[in-house]
Amino acid sequence: MSFTIDSRLPDVGTTIFTVISQLAHEHDAINLGQGFSDYAGPELLHERLEHYAKGLQHQYPPMTGIPALREVVAEKVTHCYGYAADPEHEVTIVPGATEGLFCAIQACVKPGDQVIVFDPAYDSYVPAITLAGASSVHIPLYAPDFRINWQRVKDAITIKTSMIIINTPYNPTGMVMGEQDMQVLQELVRDTKIVVLSDEVYEHLVFDEQLHQSVLRYPELAERSIMVSSFGKTFHVTGWKTGYCIAPPQLSEELRKVHQFVTFVGVTPIQLALADFMQACPKHAEQLPEFYQAKRDLFASAMADSKFQFTPAAGSFFQLVDYSEISDKDDLTMARWLTTEVGVAAIPISLFYEKPPESRMVRFCFAKQDETLTKAASILSAL
Ligand code: GLN
Repeated sequence: MSFTIDSRLPDVGTTIFTVISQLAHEHDAINLGQGFSDYAGPELLHERLEHYAKGLQHQYPPMTGIPALREVVAEKVTHCYGYAADPEHEVTIVPGATEGLFCAIQACVKPGDQVIVFDPAYDSYVPAITLAGASSVHIPLYAPDFRINWQRVKDAITIKTSMIIINTPYNPTGMVMGEQDMQVLQELVRDTKIVVLSDEVYEHLVFDEQLHQSVLRYPELAERSIMVSSFGKTFHVTGWKTGYCIAPPQLSEELRKVHQFVTFVGVTPIQLALADFMQACPKHAEQLPEFYQAKRDLFASAMADSKFQFTPAAGSFFQLVDYSEISDKDDLTMARWLTTEVGVAAIPISLFYEKPPESRMVRFCFAKQDETLTKAASILSAL
């Protein structure tokens, strides 16, 4: 073949989530790797989807999302964060948070700009920044607590910084940002042109009575932020690939200019089903912390006698564990070995760093049935 193309993403391969899930499937391993639940969403939600699947509404929905869904999302963020979002101009339904994040970056970041990301960084951020022609400025976070050193952020901000991407609760570390983090961030971006892209897909998975610190709680941050969330996590339906972005009108307008040419819309029956369910069960999200905290604790106690060391996650449905008492393999080799030889799939975290630290850690997902967690923990405890 003589035809070749210069890759726009020469350093990018297939995502580790896909690689590990494929390996888990081939080796019949319990999949605690990729983040998805092994139980269905609420029955009523599935019933509503079935209803709409059999109905007649199968054409394009409005570009910004079905109005009923935008309205119920606006009510939810008003209730949760005191931010009175205008469903018409500030709420955009997107086919997955990944699409929302991508569109937000393309809309706000110009060639030559710098975007601050924290490592380990969720894997979709940096390729989207690269495709926008900008460069990623990495600020590493380290075990055991993975907290942000705001002085480093301050030092990293330049005239070219057009965006800071935050993620709370944080995948893969389970860290959640506190009120002080948000206040310092607010001060750092004051009087700048920096947009805050706030990945809050795990907004309802915050444990131990802590409050989720959405950017929407902070008026000064909210006016320059795009908050992105995913129905996939909140309703146990990651494969429905539906999420939402909340941003003030001007930012939403720019976001929508890109969204309309990337996917244009999300899927009609899914949006209708979500709207019905959220109207019928407005308290669903409030029950999630208890639900997931019980899973976190079950997994933690089942792993208590293992040689894995960990601090229980403060949020998200991921548990990072240190395996240095078991092996000195690097984390990619360890995750592959756990998946193919031990029978429990895990995700390595070094791939999410520009300069990986020397730590020996992998990530397990605890959004699984209790029996799955107990079985996996008993296999892992035998190591
Ligand atoms: N966010 C999920 C995880 O962290 C994976 C989603 C994906 O595979 N793109 O595991």
